[in-house]
Amino acid sequence: MTGEILCVGTELLLGDIINTNAAFLARELAALGISVYHQTVVGDNGGRLREAVSLALSRSDLLVMTGGLGPTYDDITKETAAQALGKKLVWNQQAYDRMEAYFLRTGRVMSENNRKQALMPEGAVVFQNENGTAPGAALETDGKIIVLLPGPPSEMEPMFCDQVRHYLEGKTGQTFFSRTVHLFGIGESAAEEQLRDLMESSGNPTIAPYAKTGEVLLRVTAAAPDREQALRLLAPAVEKIQKRLG
Ligand code: ATP
Repeated sequence: MTGEILCVGTELLLGDIINTNAAFLARELAALGISVYHQTVVGDNGGRLREAVSLALSRSDLLVMTGGLGPTYDDITKETAAQALGKKLVWNQQAYDRMEAYFLRTGRVMSENNRKQALMPEGAVVFQNENGTAPGAALETDGKIIVLLPGPPSEMEPMFCDQVRHYLEGKTGQTFFSRTVHLFGIGESAAEEQLRDLMESSGNPTIAPYAKTGEVLLRVTAAAPDREQALRLLAPAVEKIQKRLG
């Protein structure tokens, strides 16, 4: 499956915020075995957003979008995505009830604008937002999928990990298992240099580095129909890494 990432927000274009959503999603989609060839950023502009969505759908099976799901007039991501896949927006009572409960829980007052966030593309899979108001969604037409996620990383990341990852596993037809190898006493670039051939040639399992503050980690991910088979694929790759780095 090919995928791409489209992040919406004028603040991103101006450099006011760093596009951590793209980095997070790129890693997650790679770990799911989805080939990501493009990342795009557009501002809150209807025409340019429509253009970017239509280009993405012309070349990829999956488009993951973040941002612009809020309640204000310039939040147009959902409308644009629905239109691109020929879907109407329809009232989703469950999304509304969840949102109402979130407002009650956090002691805030729901504005009339927030009602707009309970409109979802018809037939969409809705991802509940446990940490904010805007629900996410996945919509599909003729094998093309758009996943809509909220902009704030504190809302987007848990939604992806708890709900979207599982949804995408269902679409790729495989389950993914990962093992994390913690590296000590070697920097990310030195490790990458020593392991580059393994990383580049890795098909299944894939080997990808990721840096957390103060730690260098490698994620080894195998795709298989079940856990047993995945573990059988993972073991030799992890062993090779250990041998190579001593
Ligand atoms: P909200 O319901 O909060 O309005 P939204 O889905 O409309 O959410 P935006 O309004 O586009 O999202 O962004 C809200 C905030 O989320 C931004 O101000 C920024 O702090 C953060 N954010 C948005 N996009 C990204 C991104 N790509 N990477 C990192 N942070 C982001």
